[in-house]
Amino acid sequence: MLAVHNLEVVYEDVMLAVRGASLSVGRDRIVALLGANGAGKTSLLRAMTGLLDVHRGKITQGEVSIDGRKLDTRSASSVVRAGVGQVMEGRRVFVEFTVEENLRVGGHTAAAKGLEEKFDRIYGMFPVLADRRSTIAGYLSGGEQQMLAIGRAMMSDPEYLLLDEPSLGLAPKMVERIRDLIVEINAAGTGILLIEQNAAMALSIAHHGYVMENGITVMDAAAEKLRADADIQEFYLGIG
Ligand code: ATP
Repeated sequence: MLAVHNLEVVYEDVMLAVRGASLSVGRDRIVALLGANGAGKTSLLRAMTGLLDVHRGKITQGEVSIDGRKLDTRSASSVVRAGVGQVMEGRRVFVEFTVEENLRVGGHTAAAKGLEEKFDRIYGMFPVLADRRSTIAGYLSGGEQQMLAIGRAMMSDPEYLLLDEPSLGLAPKMVERIRDLIVEINAAGTGILLIEQNAAMALSIAHHGYVMENGITVMDAAAEKLRADADIQEFYLGIG
């Protein structure tokens, strides 16, 4: 279980961005984290992945753990080695590297022999990347770059994968493909934490969901309950 308990995050010693967030993700689960712009979702994710330092942020209370082991004092690479992969907002692929070079970066912890097997596994999961393995990543479409970013994170064989807005800016067809891919990755045994502005997409595949407001997780419920909730329908699903 990947868990966050009563977390508080502060930037530059003054800006309180997360002020009491708790959630948990099991390996067999897709968990959605919803919330308006500025609610603190990305900050929560940074706290879970050892990436607060580079943004001049700090955890000032609470903890992050994986199967009871504390994660919140670890570096970003140590969090990856502990089994938590991530795709941060904005598909940060290396645009001047080829597809395969990008994947190689994600698999840097693997031994050379293991690396070939990992390439095969990722290419099996993402045929579009297999066809374009020698293409410079900057020439891929936005959706293909998002797939590459996800494929790169999967190169470390994560037990959990954290995704920040994977559907942002993508055409509806591509959003569908990314959604199917998330379901497939989860079915193969990786727990998913999915941050999405596209609440309809997230709740269509999630088992469970949380809503974050002003740095606090204010709702914690099964996805079907959230889908049926009048406030969620009005504010996040644009219904009613
Ligand atoms: P979005 O969907 O826009 O990414 P979010 O829910 O992910 O929103 P965060 O990006 O976590 O929200 O932002 C939470 C609050 O923290 C916001 O008020 C934001 O301005 C602030 N914040 C984020 N990063 C920093 C930073 N590096 N330094 C100072 N304040 C920050």
